[in-house]
Amino acid sequence: MTILDSKLPSGPIDTAWDRTKFDLKLVNPANKRKFTVIVVGSGLAGASAAATLGELGYNVLCYCFQDSPRRAHSIAAQGGINAAKNYQGDGDSIYRLFYDTVKGGDFRAREANVYRLAQNSVSIIDQAVAQGVPFAREYGGTLSNRSFGGAQVSRTFYAKGQTGQQLLLGAYSALERQIAAKKVKMFPRTEMLDVVLVDGRARGIVVRDLVSGKVETVTAHAVCLATGGYSNVFYLSTNAKGCNVTATWRAARRGALFANPCFTQIHPTCIPQAGSYQSKLTLMSESLRNDGRVWVPKDPKDCGKAPAEIAEADRDYYLERKYPSFGNLSPRDIASRAAKEACDDGRGVGPAIEGVRRGVYLDFSDAIRRLGAPAIAERYGNLFEMYERITGEDPYKVPMRMYPAPHYTMGGLWVDYHLQSNIPGLFVLGEANFSDHGANRLGASALMQGLSDGYFIISSTLGHYLAANKLESVGADHAEARKAQGEVEERLKKLLGVNGKRSVDSFHRELGDIMWNKCGMARNRTGLEWALQRIPELREEFWKDVAVPGDGGLNQSLEKAGRVADLFEFAELMCLDALEREESCGGHFREEYQDEGEAKRNDESFTYAAAWKFEGVGNRPTLVKEPLTFNYVKPTQRSYK
Ligand SMILES: Cc1cc2nc3c(=O)[nH]c(=O)nc-3n(C[C@H](O)[C@H](O)[C@H](O)COP(=O)(O)OP(=O)(O)OC[C@H]3O[C@@H](n4cnc5c(N)ncnc54)[C@H](O)[C@@H]3O)c2cc1C
Repeated sequence: MTILDSKLPSGPIDTAWDRTKFDLKLVNPANKRKFTVIVVGSGLAGASAAATLGELGYNVLCYCFQDSPRRAHSIAAQGGINAAKNYQGDGDSIYRLFYDTVKGGDFRAREANVYRLAQNSVSIIDQAVAQGVPFAREYGGTLSNRSFGGAQVSRTFYAKGQTGQQLLLGAYSALERQIAAKKVKMFPRTEMLDVVLVDGRARGIVVRDLVSGKVETVTAHAVCLATGGYSNVFYLSTNAKGCNVTATWRAARRGALFANPCFTQIHPTCIPQAGSYQSKLTLMSESLRNDGRVWVPKDPKDCGKAPAEIAEADRDYYLERKYPSFGNLSPRDIASRAAKEACDDGRGVGPAIEGVRRGVYLDFSDAIRRLGAPAIAERYGNLFEMYERITGEDPYKVPMRMYPAPHYTMGGLWVDYHLQSNIPGLFVLGEANFSDHGANRLGASALMQGLSDGYFIISSTLGHYLAANKLESVGADHAEARKAQGEVEERLKKLLGVNGKRSVDSFHRELGDIMWNKCGMARNRTGLEWALQRIPELREEFWKDVAVPGDGGLNQSLEKAGRVADLFEFAELMCLDALEREESCGGHFREEYQDEGEAKRNDESFTYAAAWKFEGVGNRPTLVKEPLTFNYVKPTQRSYK
């Protein structure tokens, strides 16, 4: 039986991380160069980890599938990054950020992890500023802040609507410095397809060069996965098209537990889908809700009218009405469900897709009247321009139209307080781990978590692992390495050999439809049971009929096919997790468990992280529970009223 040791520190929470760090073993500076560490991923989590480990003196091998580490999906992050600096003097503190995050996650995250995250938030800003990240500033030169959902203070640091890009450039500069210093070796256009375990420890990975198609095994003393989230299981999402679950799922197939896969976030402000053949959705940053007001017509009969023709008295500012304390800055799960409810009610706006108008207005007219268009342009100019380019509508003149879309995944590989999975030597960082966000992530806290993991946690905990364990040398010719590589080659050959008629994308789109309709913003037993029947059927059809043209060299269809094959296996686990969790919490809304439309948690039965052990394709995985305890923030019904 798998027993989880979360290595949570005991004693007062505010000194827990400092005490842990003091107790962790250190690697002598002269010995660090004897260790090689693999970092898969060069987004904010991976780039910060690789740069930091290189700076410390380890030999780092860093992999990404893009042509440059700078193209990791983190570059898309728009709105900002939270930190408890209290520059505004509006009552913020580490404790308040901790409190908001535990509450925002609907009491399904570990208190000690979240407290450490809030503590580290302060150092992240200092680190980024020292790197030259151009955060927005006030006239006097101090860093500026804005508000994000789920908080009543302004703690979000931002660089226009390009915060992720600017932070990534900072991390990338640090990474480049280490590449130049020959402490980090970068392998772009290279995809990890398996983890190599030797004596139960992670000792390497199998990779495929996406240009030449060459498959090889790379060994090291430890492996860090920072491979991002799996929102693309829904096919349509705000994630970059390349985001996928392969790295973490292949690790799961080797025994790493996958935790809370059903905790996914649907973001309330995305540009609505425009047609059935669309392949990507676009996020409009949550920061827009600082100044934009969300509304729909009160009367369905008005939905076809131009917004200017709808009188003020005939508009329903439903977030302000339902949640007067937080209003338009209600957390994402709550704002998304409220938008869906309004559209399901027949009060959606914009063109109907398959007979339903799926859109709500996000209206800046009040803010423009109050502050003037230049002030709004300064805050959100690039977002307004992006919106206009996509929709052809000018948001300075007409309200934006928004609808919720898959955006972020709170689930991921289970890790302990050291960010180590249940496989010794396999560490998981950033969105790829099951993270500190519980059942719902507050806005601007993913960047914070990725950088906290990469800059400030892994540097201590990985060193401890290396110092505390005797690791024999393992080469690519080790029997386990050869076996793993052989299995990867076999799978690639099998995909190329199907010779079917249906494109990879069409399978992915059908899987995405199932996931969105049955395991999306609202879930119920009947739908999930149906999905659990249909997904394996579709998976079998995929393996009989998928068309993967080309050969084993440069071949994007082959890349996609491997990723979609993994999404099929993973999607089943997601539905099973959603079925087993008979409560509503955060982004996991089970229609059977609600109280006047609000999520109804069941703390007695479900205050745990659900970590699933893979038992073979088509077999029921085993559930291992990590109980959660709350000593500081008492679980209550979340209220934003
Ligand atoms: C449109 C958008 C806007 C957002 N805005 C914000 C925001 O304002 N604030 C905020 O806090 N969060 C925001 N988020 C969330 C945040 O951007 C992400 O959660 C975060 O950037 C993830 O970082 P990461 O380093 O964990 O993963 P990623 O940035 O996704 O990087 C993953 C890396 O892993 C590599 N990789 C993956 N699989 C493999 C493999 N098999 N082999 C080799 N390499 C692999 C990729 O090449 C990439 O380098 C936003 C998300 C989206 C979609």
